[in-house]
Amino acid sequence: MKKESRIVHAGLHPDRFEGVVNPPVFRASTVLAPTVAELKARHSQRFDVTYYGRYGTPTTRALEEAVAEIEGGSKAILVSSGLAAISSTLLALLRQGDHLLMVDSAYYPTRAFCDQILVTYGIETTYYDPMIGAGIADLIRPNTRVVFTESPGSQTFEVQDIPAIAEAAHAAGVLVVMDNTWGLLSFQPFEKGVDVSLQAATKYLGGHSDAMLGTIATADRALWERIKNHVCLMGHAVGTEEVYLGLRGVRTLPIRLRQHFEAGLTVARWLESRPEVARVLHPALPGCPGHDLWKRDFTGGCGLFSIELALPASGDLPEAAVNEMLDHYHFFKLGYSWGGFESLVVPATPLRTAAPLPAGTGPIVRYHVGLEDTDDLIADLEQGFDRLKAAVAAL
Ligand SMILES: *Cc1c(COP(=O)(O)O)cnc(C)c1O
Repeated sequence: MKKESRIVHAGLHPDRFEGVVNPPVFRASTVLAPTVAELKARHSQRFDVTYYGRYGTPTTRALEEAVAEIEGGSKAILVSSGLAAISSTLLALLRQGDHLLMVDSAYYPTRAFCDQILVTYGIETTYYDPMIGAGIADLIRPNTRVVFTESPGSQTFEVQDIPAIAEAAHAAGVLVVMDNTWGLLSFQPFEKGVDVSLQAATKYLGGHSDAMLGTIATADRALWERIKNHVCLMGHAVGTEEVYLGLRGVRTLPIRLRQHFEAGLTVARWLESRPEVARVLHPALPGCPGHDLWKRDFTGGCGLFSIELALPASGDLPEAAVNEMLDHYHFFKLGYSWGGFESLVVPATPLRTAAPLPAGTGPIVRYHVGLEDTDDLIADLEQGFDRLKAAVAAL
């Protein structure tokens, strides 16, 4: 059976709910047990049976089952946001005195979590070049416990050599954690050596810009239990409405992703042809660092990519001129996040310490291509370039 067919039905058990296709939304804290013996027995199986609301319900387990299927793992955990998936996993796997290797192109709040929270727990972070590959071995210390990857990188889309990094990490007994939000469905993390795969399910899994949700998936039951125990002891519990919206998103995920990816490529290729654009940072296009790795390791992608604007002859492209382009799009609205049905744009502000962007890099703008018609989106972008040119000429 094809994976896409399995995803359409993943986590559904109509037989358990009188034939109703979707699992009901269980709003549960207390779960009653018939006897003391049963109450105690359930405690020892609390991660697997319905024991107490915070540990999970048939509704949360349905989505966890679907996430495990999508990610190609065996077990999953739901948390309240993508960032909670990142922070919970790192806190579960690291302790005082440990060392973390963090990719320099990580989602900015992941960086802030390391620099502002992990540091206060005596956990040291070293940032590494996203293109390091097997060279990661040179940065591994005796107290390194985790290599954190995010491929492609946030805002600048460097594709990492995950199999090479995993091989080096595993040789030293180090776990590999991946923020796989961009590669949802198009990158199968466990086949490539990842130990823990994280999703900001807020993005494409939910897919409608109406829910915050995060997921943690593993292929290994013991690792899952370790993180699940931590998540439960930290008191995380996911809202029932968000779980329902996540389950609803799952059913259309493969077709939505296919459409976002195809439309995104159409728009990205048009942008490549424009004189205002120095580079298109899209993993599926040759101008992107690690494009060959994308070809080797991914089966597709999504609708998120960036462009680097070309600098005019003066060498200076003032922010005010770029803002003139960004402020007045019809479809590409200004807003954080991505993965919903609608197109979005944000000016990117990549922070790098280990692998700075080359001097003279022009302003970077990140686009999310939604489900609108690509002719309309391209017309919108073309008018934006007209505004940019007029603003530069007026300066
Ligand atoms: C948005 C995002 C997150 C955080 O997800 P939230 O649900 O907003 O907390 C994590 N990683 C990446 C790559 C993201 O784009």
